[in-house]
Amino acid sequence: MPSVLPPWPSPAVPVAGSDDTFPVRHIYCVGRNYAEHAKEMGGDAVREPPFFFTKPADAVLPVVPPALGHMRYPLGTQDLQHEVELVVAIGRAGAQLDPEHALEVVYGYATGLDMTRRDLQIAMREKKRPWDLGKSFAQAAPIAPIHRAAEVGHLERGAIRLSVNGALRQQGDLEDMIWDVPHTLSFLSQYYELLPGDLVFTGTPAGVSAVVAGDRLDGSIEGLSPLSIVVDP
Ligand code: MN
Repeated sequence: MPSVLPPWPSPAVPVAGSDDTFPVRHIYCVGRNYAEHAKEMGGDAVREPPFFFTKPADAVLPVVPPALGHMRYPLGTQDLQHEVELVVAIGRAGAQLDPEHALEVVYGYATGLDMTRRDLQIAMREKKRPWDLGKSFAQAAPIAPIHRAAEVGHLERGAIRLSVNGALRQQGDLEDMIWDVPHTLSFLSQYYELLPGDLVFTGTPAGVSAVVAGDRLDGSIEGLSPLSIVVDP
């Protein structure tokens, strides 16, 4: 059947060390999954069940080092902030997973950025409205190549960092997550069947801050490809 519009490219992320790509279906994100970041966002560190929000699949901005990615400063904000996060790539379908079996659906891991229009997110939060304006926008999910779990294993600990123009802003360890990856996937899969191509952003450590056009962001997670972008006007 003819399409009434010219087709656009399907969102995809390169797989590290290969010419393969990982097609992106859904992007799920966990809120407040490191205690120090929960506090800086005005919450407390009580261990409540995780909560989730989403971004459109075409928000991915794949960046393959040593290339520098370019992100346009988004519309409608005066407070664009970085959140460096471990991204879990789902390779197999699964629903209502037990934590003990949740890792079986994982294809691999990547370094990602949950870019946030913080002023809009907070305004919506205060009005008890959805966070979409703050979290879902063009290029809101820069991501480095995905490393296969078969090669790098399942990441339980390791340094996670982000610097802006060479100055360290965020620093933490994956083991500081309030809910680890198996528990996060278990919770998420009670509400959604996880499907091949899904990405799950697992929350950010403390130190989020605003960036402006011209800033360079360098994110890294021990054992994975780093991610570097420049914010364009
Ligand atoms: Mn986040």
